[in-house]
Order: sequence, then structure tokens, then C-alpha cells
Amino acid sequence: MAETKYIFVTGGVVSSLGKGIISSSIGKLLQARGYNITIQKFDPYINIDPGTLNPYEHGECYVTVDGMETDLDLGHYERFTGIKTTKANSMTTGRIYKSVIDKERRGDYLGKTIQVVPHITDEIKRNIKQLGLKYNYDFVITEIGGTIGDIESAPFLEAIRQMKWELGKRAINLHLTYVPYLKAAGELKTKPTQHSVKELQSVGIQPDLLVLRTEQHLGDGIRKKVAAFCNVDFDCVVQSEDLPCIYEVPVKMQEQGLDVAILRKCGEEIKPTPELGPWKAFLERRKNATEEIHIGLVGKYDLQDAYKSIRESLSQAGTYNDHKTVLTFINSEELTEENVAERLAGQDGIVVCPGFGQRGIDGKVIAAHYTRTHNIPTFGICLGMQMMVIEFARNVLGYKDANSREIDEKTIHNVIDIMEEQKNITNMGGTMRLGAYECVLRQDSRTFEIYHQEHIQERHRHRYEFNNDYEKEYEKNGMMCVGRNPESDLVEIVEIPGLKWYIGTQFHPEYQSTVLNPHPLFLDFIKTAIENKQK
Ligand code: GLN
Repeated sequence: MAETKYIFVTGGVVSSLGKGIISSSIGKLLQARGYNITIQKFDPYINIDPGTLNPYEHGECYVTVDGMETDLDLGHYERFTGIKTTKANSMTTGRIYKSVIDKERRGDYLGKTIQVVPHITDEIKRNIKQLGLKYNYDFVITEIGGTIGDIESAPFLEAIRQMKWELGKRAINLHLTYVPYLKAAGELKTKPTQHSVKELQSVGIQPDLLVLRTEQHLGDGIRKKVAAFCNVDFDCVVQSEDLPCIYEVPVKMQEQGLDVAILRKCGEEIKPTPELGPWKAFLERRKNATEEIHIGLVGKYDLQDAYKSIRESLSQAGTYNDHKTVLTFINSEELTEENVAERLAGQDGIVVCPGFGQRGIDGKVIAAHYTRTHNIPTFGICLGMQMMVIEFARNVLGYKDANSREIDEKTIHNVIDIMEEQKNITNMGGTMRLGAYECVLRQDSRTFEIYHQEHIQERHRHRYEFNNDYEKEYEKNGMMCVGRNPESDLVEIVEIPGLKWYIGTQFHPEYQSTVLNPHPLFLDFIKTAIENKQK
């Protein structure tokens, strides 16, 4: 068994260059060559995890199978490579410090003065190495959040410097930078890249590979110049041009030999370049799928990244149904009985999105009511499912005050209630029902037909649940509880069989949909929305 190799992905010049996509693409390409890989993200902020962050700060919170609330880049890692990430794949400065401080309190450091170097940097290194050793990975790709030069990233850079020094060829750095095009001068500028590399060199890190993000094609001249000024081999300078679809990135990186350059730098034997057959077939299918299917996302965060995994799942499902998914955000805060018909007009299906708190709740109930009574395919996810349940109680069961305890603590008709084990929890961070739980499907249900299996596992992130006291009433009136957790008896799925597609899940299926393994619920929802459109 060869020893684990470490690839550190850093970013310079500006943020949002797509380090997550590049890390995922490298993972994909190495995997295609038969390597066992994983991808890890270090975020330099002090929060223990992004679970308590408002989506406007950092976009969606992605949940791993083992219940860690993580950065949305982990979603890219899973969607590209099909790996299952865990707690160990997501680390923040806050967690590193917490672990060091806990050790200090236990007396583990035997009276030493605790410092950033070596204690914090050792803890960072331990978390990187441990991941490689624990699962015998051939490659651990570690993405460092933020931009070079940020005060917060300094300890991470020092840890990388040390690991490169200790491990030689087994640790390499890929630096992602930006080459802007100045319209007035008609020129592409490499200076920011040179400065960013100097910044890395000043902390003792010589990048091994450079990926240049650019909106214009870079000729060999520019690549040669960057290579010469930054001490990087010419074949190790590749470009990442804007592409219509992020899933094309691995193919473009492979065409430029990024994977070969990585292997050469690590001293690995280089075998023939693999085909990426199924991946390319997906891209081909996507390109040919030009007919549109329109899906409305009813939610409260008017930000692309807030519902990232849901968007990707719907768009993948569109491709597999040979359609192009066009998503429209519908702000639930603005929805009223009067404008709902107009706001939802033209949508072939509606997703009622997850969320927390009071804001935008009424609009979600109004949307669920409209789509139920107009038989529009509707997918309620987590809070979305809870809103379907509340709407049904108010308008079918006749409980006008029906609500969730999250919204109204004193409601008599608490059709959505706080979970027993959540009642005494006061800490907000990491205390919800999190991660994968088993769910058993009722065999006579639509959902069972969709999954083709009785036992499923899906990931959760919530505090509230369907109140089983009302189950019989719901079922008598046509909303069925068709999925349950076998241990806790919690209701995980509701559906109305008479309608075209009206399914709510307490879990988040979007966390499990990948490019090569799209999720059955999203596939079937889109398929039905297409049929709905054709009628
Ligand atoms: N706020 C709801 C709960 O905690 C739903 C959470 C969600 O949509 N992820 O139960």
C-alpha cells in the first residue's frame, strides 16, 4: 500500500474563483485513474461549523451522513465524485482552537505555553494526516477556504509549509488565481497572479501547480510568462475558463493534463488517460436537452447558493429526463392569496423549500394550498413538508389555527411539534436531528414505487416533526404518512395519492443526489412535471 499523498488547494487574488469545483474535479480525475481519494475543507472562520450561519453569509449548509453541518463545497465533492464525506472532511478554525483548548484544560500539554505555532498548526496537521491514514486514501485533497493574505489563513499556510517540508513529493500545492481582462487596454493581466504567488512564497510555500481562472482564453505566451515568473513548470500552469456548466470542468482539466501534472509532481507512475465515459455521456445528454421544464422554488433566501443542493438535484434530474431545468425563485414573503396564481403561473412544478423561523412561512402555506387545489406537482422539503402538513390541517381538517410549535408555541393544533429529545436543548449549534436515518416505506405508496425499495436512508436537519396524534385524521382525509423511522416512529414522508405529485419529506433528499447517481425522488418529480406540462 503506497503512502497517502496530500494536495493542498489554495486561492489567491479574489474569492469565489471556484476552489471547490477545482478540488472536486481533481478528485474526479484521480478517481478515474483508480485512486482512492477524499476531499477535505478547512474554513478559516471561528464558528465551530456553518450550522448557525445565516444562508446569506455562506449559502447552504450541507449535511454529511454522520450529521456534520458543513460548507456547501462538500456538496460539490459528493456530487462530482460520489464519495461520502464525514465530520473529518470539514474543519474550521473554531473547531481546531476548541480541540486545542479542550486538550489544554485536560492537562494534555503538560504545562507548556500554548501557541499558534506549534500547537494550532500541529492540530491542523493532525486533522489532515489522520484523514489519510484512517481510510488508507491514496490522495487527500485539502481545500483551504478564504484567500491568500487573509489574516485568518496564516496558521493553515504554516501547516501546509511544514507538511511540504516533511513529506517532500507526497505533499503538493495547487494555487488557483485570477487573470483579469482589462477591456480598455485590451489585455489580460498576470500581475495579480504574480503577487499572489509571491505572497505564498513569502510564507515559504512554492506552488507546484497553478490554475488560472479567466474569462478569456489564455494563449501559451501568458502561460509561459506566468510559469517563468512564478517558478512553476509550464505543463503545471493550466487555465480554467468560464464554462456553461460546472460539470465540464473535470473534462477541461483532463484535456490540459492537470491530472498528469499532479501525478508527475507526486512521483507517481503515469498510465494512459482514462475515458470518463459515463461523465461525458451525462454532459452530452445535458447539451442535447434543450426543451425547458420550469420549476418554481418557493423560499425566503433570494440567493443562488442558499438552495444549492436542491438546484443541482433538480438540474441533474432535468438532464436525465432530457430536459433543461429552468429554476425561478419565488419569494415566499411576497406571496399572498391574491397574487399566488400570478406568481406561480408558468411553473410546471413547485418545490417548497426548507428553512427556519417565522419569516416567509405564510407564503409557503399559501403556495402549498394553491398547488394542492390546482393539482400542480409539488415537492415539500423539510420545512416545506411541514408547511404542506399545516396547510392540510387548516383547509381540509378544519383546524384554522393549526401550526408548528416553531412558529406558534401555544397553538392547540400543533400538527408539527418539537421532538421529545429536542425539548430541553438550549444550545443552537449542532443539536438538531442531524445526519442519515433509516426510513421504512409503505409498500402501497407512490414513494415506494419511486424508490423501488422498502428501506431507505436519508439525511436530516430539523428540530420539529409531524405530530403522530393527528395521523389517523390525516389518513382518513387523504394525506398519507408513508415513510417512518423504525426506531422513533417519526413520520418522514407524507403524500396525497390522488394528486399528480404531492410529496413532502422531512429529510433532505438533495444531499444525496450526484451527477452519476441522481436521486429517484427528483427524477420522478421532474418526470411528472414534464408530463404535467404536456397536458
Ligand atoms: N425549521 C424546521 C425544523 O427545525 C425545518 C428545518 C429545515 O427545513 N431544515 O424542524
